[in-house]
Amino acid sequence: MSTDKLVDFDEVLSRYEPVIGLETHVELGTASKMFCGCSTTFGAEPNTQTCPVCLGLPGALPVANAAAIEATIRIGLALGCRIATWCRFARKNYFYPDIPKGFQTSQYDEPLCTAGHLDVEVDGETYRVEIERVHLEEDTGKNLHVGGSTGRIHGADHSLIDYNRAGIPLVEIVTRPIPGAGAKAPEVARAYVDELREIVRTLGVSDVKMEQGSLRCDVNLSIAPIGSLEWGTRSETKNVNSLRSVERAVRYEMRRQAAVLDEGGRVVQETRHFHEDSGSTSSGRSKEEATDYRYFPEPDLVPIAPDEEWVEKLAAALPELPAARRARLSEEWGISPTEMAWVVNAGAVDLVGDTVAAGASPADARKWWLGELARRANDAGVELADLAVTPAQVAELVALVAAGTINDQLARQTLDGVLAGEGDPAQVVEARGLAVMGESDELVAAVDAAIEGNPDVAEKVRAGKVQAIGALVGAVMKATRGKADAATVKRMLEERLSQG
Ligand SMILES: [Zn+2]
Repeated sequence: MSTDKLVDFDEVLSRYEPVIGLETHVELGTASKMFCGCSTTFGAEPNTQTCPVCLGLPGALPVANAAAIEATIRIGLALGCRIATWCRFARKNYFYPDIPKGFQTSQYDEPLCTAGHLDVEVDGETYRVEIERVHLEEDTGKNLHVGGSTGRIHGADHSLIDYNRAGIPLVEIVTRPIPGAGAKAPEVARAYVDELREIVRTLGVSDVKMEQGSLRCDVNLSIAPIGSLEWGTRSETKNVNSLRSVERAVRYEMRRQAAVLDEGGRVVQETRHFHEDSGSTSSGRSKEEATDYRYFPEPDLVPIAPDEEWVEKLAAALPELPAARRARLSEEWGISPTEMAWVVNAGAVDLVGDTVAAGASPADARKWWLGELARRANDAGVELADLAVTPAQVAELVALVAAGTINDQLARQTLDGVLAGEGDPAQVVEARGLAVMGESDELVAAVDAAIEGNPDVAEKVRAGKVQAIGALVGAVMKATRGKADAATVKRMLEERLSQG
């Protein structure tokens, strides 16, 4: 669908240096909206969660939500920001049907939090992302354009507006421009949003579901010839709704802008839309300047003046943040940062942690979650955490293997049963008869049968070709459908064959 000319990614890097910038909106999980008492529950019937304040009716007066201010300060503190001792809300004036007041109540030159940073790691290298500001504002309503093919206003017969979202507290986190990432720019952008999401999740102030829009990202990107003293003109790709899309949007814009500059053209400062299906962006509207919004201080709200002692208390009560937690766990589990990165990338930090807490060794817990279970999640196309097996069940499985009740192969069959909802591992082992066979009559018979059925192999072993015994072990394992213990079988075979 895109007609943009694109330069090969590696070629872009041979001539240009990218600069990324990220603006992330986080919808806070407060019970009520930013300036009124309306509910914020997701998925309610359209326009059932509204009142004169969030509909912008004349004479209605807003009151700021204290829980939202506290949540914003906590995000700022987690990002190492300076917290303002006094700041105001401002009116950002523009007319859109989804913004019933004719302005958005936001913060302009007096943000609540400033000058923080977030370190992200990509391929073992740390990139420091400077945070310019964290401010508080309100979300807009939602337009639904009906009748067009793409859901956009062009070609639609009519539009519907749902104001349930209008006035939900929104925190905007803005980075300073991030130069110097070079070829890693797409990954650094993704890693930043990922780490920020983990922090916000750890703070418990939002459910940060990108697919439901409670975390949305605008990706700013510019490129300039290598060695240039000035940065290029940036494009702003709006509402990029998954981590993968963040990475793709950066990559696409680098390639597109390089083609524009190669032809002697100029990159236009504009907002662009990202298309999930093709991974491309398309032109939106030319970007407004701050002056277009005629910002002025909101006269209907008192200034916010967070008490210093309160801020100190909030800082002291912050939970252990993801980076510190990863460092602590990798030490406790005795693994390298690289190995820890694998656990993180698999989305298995909590799963492994809970499995260890349930009694498994860190090595066993990692082995199962990153091996067999990761493979099954991948086959089923689901997240690891969504598999129908709990960390406690994995710990139980590990204990059954350690006790010799089952071996690894039987453990995989046991997992089949657990995932099929047949109960805990011990119950599945019992119900499916999966326990390893002892030196029972049945096993003795299977060993004898293997020798009788393969006389030539048995003769070789007797003649001293010890490695040939593998074929006999395999025959016994096959006959017992993997329920025998291979080491025991080998020992029994050796005893039998040495008797002549
Ligand atoms: Zn309301």
